[in-house]
Amino acid sequence: MTATEAPAPATFESLDPRTGDVVGTHPVHDEAAVRAAVARAASAAQWWDGLGADERRGLLLAWRAVLVRKLDDLAGVVVEETGKPIDDARLELVLAIDHLDWAAKHAEKVLGRRKVAPGLLMGNQAASVTYRPYGVIGVIGPWNYPVFTPMGSIAYALAAGNAVVFKPSELTPGVGVALADTFAEIVDGRPVLQVVTGFGETGAALCRAPGIGKIAFTGSTATGKRVMAACAESLTPVLVECGGKDPMIVDADADLDAAADAAVWGGMSNAGQTCAGVERVYVLDAVAEEFTAKVVAKARGLRAGSGGAYGPMTMAGQVDIVRRHVEDALARGGRAVVGGAESVQPPFVEPVVIVDVPEDSSAVTEETFGPLLVVNRVPDVDEAVRRSNATAYGLGASVFSRARGEEIAGRLRCGMVAVNGVISFAGIPGLPFGGVGDSGFGRIHGEDGLREFARPQAVARQRFPLPVPVTSFSRTAATMKALVGLVRARHGR
Ligand code: NDP
Repeated sequence: MTATEAPAPATFESLDPRTGDVVGTHPVHDEAAVRAAVARAASAAQWWDGLGADERRGLLLAWRAVLVRKLDDLAGVVVEETGKPIDDARLELVLAIDHLDWAAKHAEKVLGRRKVAPGLLMGNQAASVTYRPYGVIGVIGPWNYPVFTPMGSIAYALAAGNAVVFKPSELTPGVGVALADTFAEIVDGRPVLQVVTGFGETGAALCRAPGIGKIAFTGSTATGKRVMAACAESLTPVLVECGGKDPMIVDADADLDAAADAAVWGGMSNAGQTCAGVERVYVLDAVAEEFTAKVVAKARGLRAGSGGAYGPMTMAGQVDIVRRHVEDALARGGRAVVGGAESVQPPFVEPVVIVDVPEDSSAVTEETFGPLLVVNRVPDVDEAVRRSNATAYGLGASVFSRARGEEIAGRLRCGMVAVNGVISFAGIPGLPFGGVGDSGFGRIHGEDGLREFARPQAVARQRFPLPVPVTSFSRTAATMKALVGLVRARHGR
C-alpha cells in the first residue's frame, strides 16, 4: 500500500449455518460509507419521486418479473445463508413478489391526492390531502425471512416514492445484495435501492445518518429500543417490528385435525424462527387430550436437518435460548410429549412439545424462536384469552373455533389474528402487519403499510372569499355573534 492509497475496507464472512462453510465475503460499511450511501440515495430519491406514480408502477412491476425469473437463484442464496429447505425459501419469495405486486398497483390510489369535505364553516375552501415520500428510508432487517420480512418495508417504501438503504442482518448479507442487484437491473444502476453490510454498528450508523427520512426496523425488542433511542436524537420517525410470543387458542368445537396441523406448522416450520409463529397453545380441557395426541403424532414425524422438514438454527446463539426454555419448562413440572432436552443438537433442534407448563416459565413468557411448542389446557375460552393477553408482546395469534372465531379474535391484544388458520394474515397483501406492546408499532403491508412510508400533506385552497371574514382583524363583533349562533344551532343540542 502506498501513502496515497486508502486502506481496504474491513470485511466479514457469511456462513452456511448447516456446515459453517464460508459462502460470501462482504464489506463492513462504516459510518462514512453509510453516510455516502444515504447521500447517493437522497438524489436518487428525487429522480424516483419525479418519475411519477405511473412510471414507478411500471418499473416495480418489471422488478417483480425479474424476481420471478430469478426466483430459484435467489432462493438458493436464502438456503445458503439460512439453511432452510429450498421450498421454504421459494415460498418466502413467492409471498414477497405478491406483496410487491400489490404495493406497485395500489400506491397511486392510496397515496394520490384525495378530496376532503371542507365542512360548513370552511365551505369556501377546496380541501385535499396527498401523501409525499419521506425521501430516504433506512430498512434494517433480520435473518429469519431475509427476503419476505424486509420486502414488507422495501416494496412499500419504493412504491410510495422513496429511495431505500437496506442493512440486512450480518447473517444474511448475500440475500440483501442479491435483492438490490435485481432492482439495479430495472433502474440502470441508479442507487434507488442500496445495501450496506456489516454488524450492528452499521445499522446504528444508518439510524444516525443525516438525510434519513424514516427507519423501518425489524428485529428483536432489545435492538428496537436502541434504534428508537438513536433516532430520537434527530427526531427521525421509526417503524418498529419486533418479536412475539404468539398464542393459539383451540376451542371445544374446533376442527382438531386442522388445529393440530396448524399448531405444528406454526410452531416448527423454519425451525420455529418465525416472529409470528405459534409458541404457546391454549386448548380447552374438553378436547385437550384428543388435540394433543394429534399434535404429538404430527410432530413426531418431523425431522430437522438436510432433507428434513426444517433446517438448523440460523443464529448459533439462539440454540442456548431454546435449551434454556426447554430445561426451565421441564424443571417446573412441564411434561415433554415430543422430544426433550436431548432434542437440542446444535446446529439443529428436533421438535419439542411440552404440556402443562407453568405460565411463569421462560418457555411461556419469553420469545423462544425455536421448534418448541408449549401446549397448556384451559377450562374455558375466557381463561384462554386471559392467558393469551398476559404477555408484554402482542404480535399475532390464531384461533381455531367453528362458531366463535372472530369474536375470540376481537378480544385478543395483538396486531393480527388468523381464524382457523395460522399466519395467513401475512400472505394477504391488503392486510396491515405489525404488533402492539413489546412487538412494536407501525404497520407494513396494505394501505397502512403504504402510508407508513409517506407523510400526509394537507392543502386547503380558498375558492372564494367569505363575505364576512372571521380570520382577519377586520372581523366585527356581529360576525362573531352570527358564527357562535350558527354553532349553537348546529352542535348545541
Ligand atoms: P436483531 O435485533 O439482533 O437484529 C435486527 C437487525 O438490527 C440486524 O440487521 C442487526 O444487525 C441490526 N442491529 C443490531 N444492532 C443494531 C443497532 N444498535 N442499531 C441498528 N441496527 C442494529 O434481530 P435478529 O436479526 O436476531 O432477528 C430476530 C428477531 O426479529 C426476533 O425477535 C423476531 O421475532 C424478530 N422479527 C420480527 C418480525 C416482525 O415483523 N415483527 C419479523 C421477523 C423477525 P446484525 O445482524 O448485523 O447484528
